[in-house]
Amino acid sequence: MSSSSATPSVESFEAVIVGGGMVGTALCALLAQAGMRVALVEVQPAPLTLESAVRKLPNPRVSALTPVSQRLLTHLGAWPAMQKTRVTPYKGMHVWDAEGSGEIAFSADEAGVAVLGHIVENTVTLAALNNHVIGDPNVTPYFGVRLQALQRSSGSRLVLDDGRQLHSPLIVAADGARSVLREMAGIDVASDDMQQEAVVTTVQCAKPHGGIARQAFIDGRPLAFLPLTVEGSDHYCSIVWSTTPEHAAVLSELPREALGEALGKAFGHRLGEVTVCDKAHRFPLVQRHARHYVQPHFALVGDAAHSIHPLAGQGVNLGLMDAAVLAEEVVHAWQRGAPWGELSTLRRYERRRRFDNSAMLGLMKGFKVLFGSHDPALTLARNLGMSGMNQLVPLKRVLMRQATGERGRLPLSCC
Ligand SMILES: Cc1cc2nc3c(=O)[nH]c(=O)nc-3n(C[C@H](O)[C@H](O)[C@H](O)COP(=O)(O)OP(=O)(O)OC[C@H]3O[C@@H](n4cnc5c(N)ncnc54)[C@H](O)[C@@H]3O)c2cc1C
Repeated sequence: MSSSSATPSVESFEAVIVGGGMVGTALCALLAQAGMRVALVEVQPAPLTLESAVRKLPNPRVSALTPVSQRLLTHLGAWPAMQKTRVTPYKGMHVWDAEGSGEIAFSADEAGVAVLGHIVENTVTLAALNNHVIGDPNVTPYFGVRLQALQRSSGSRLVLDDGRQLHSPLIVAADGARSVLREMAGIDVASDDMQQEAVVTTVQCAKPHGGIARQAFIDGRPLAFLPLTVEGSDHYCSIVWSTTPEHAAVLSELPREALGEALGKAFGHRLGEVTVCDKAHRFPLVQRHARHYVQPHFALVGDAAHSIHPLAGQGVNLGLMDAAVLAEEVVHAWQRGAPWGELSTLRRYERRRRFDNSAMLGLMKGFKVLFGSHDPALTLARNLGMSGMNQLVPLKRVLMRQATGERGRLPLSCC
């Protein structure tokens, strides 16, 4: 329904979420599951389905999902469909410094857990979440629409480009790193251009990956080979090479054979000869952190609140925790009849999430400086540090708990 002369149609919801990516859709599922009436607004023309998410060759965008994120996706009922489609567990992680002798290895056994995580195509996670959200009577999806304005008075009101207006005590921006809605709300971000781009593609290796996620630091440029099992073969990997924009441009222009050779050589041929199976995609890497996550009747989650260097595979995991904590605070207020969109409720969410997100953003910056340095003292320190730490099982256990998401007070949906 759209008309320029007639009175605009106003629809009311208990929450409106803008951005149907993994984080926005997970938040939508959590609120709807609790009984709230939610609108989900997405610029893409139609929701991704499990049928369209399945491809022989994996989609190049993958994420390492922590066991904590897995528990959230299980709580939402999405995990079984993801498992049936394609997820690759990893039980080990090897990280080494290609400039020196430093090397560290983590294993699920040492950490006392079944797996350290799973590598999953983003399309698989999103399609499995959509499977629950689309068709839920508590969810009204608005796909293929753009935002025109955000208005404030007794709640928030979103004006869509087709004239419809959505009114709610709570509007959430989950529209990604370059969030238009965050800008409309006037929330500023601290940006840190990492002066790197990620080159991403899918490869087949001569040697099996053995369920191990590997990462080499080559002159401060992390190259990850993330294990993928495709139709029973454990010779596939998703590669993410975070490098200078100039090098990324060169790599992405190489013929596949030459790119395979470059990847194999940079990786010290640990997985043997490398055959590139897909186009090389490039993603600029900018760390951003919103100065505020909340305003009255408004909140940011996921990449709209923070975007992080992919070297530790934490981005969507942090975003899913934002969704789980925001849902916990909002549902708790809604169930006891308290104003769930007011600042007092939303600030509890911000307090619970900002520290964890800031710490992770700071850590990624520190890694980049440490591994990018040619200072001989720092090079020696990092090599000694990695190798020394490799001998210290209790310390490695602490690190593993951090990397697997077992940090701080977890929301009940992730316990
Ligand atoms: C190379 C690379 C590797 C990565 N690897 C990992 C990893 O291993 N592990 C990990 O945890 N994270 C990883 N990440 C980060 C992860 O991909 C992101 O953190 C995650 O995708 C963010 O999810 P999101 O739902 O917040 O945002 P997005 O995925 O950006 O989704 C935003 C959604 O909003 C929609 N949208 C945008 N604008 C509008 C609008 N105006 N109106 C309506 N809808 C709109 C978009 O269409 C999209 O559907 C990686 C990132 C990169 C670049």
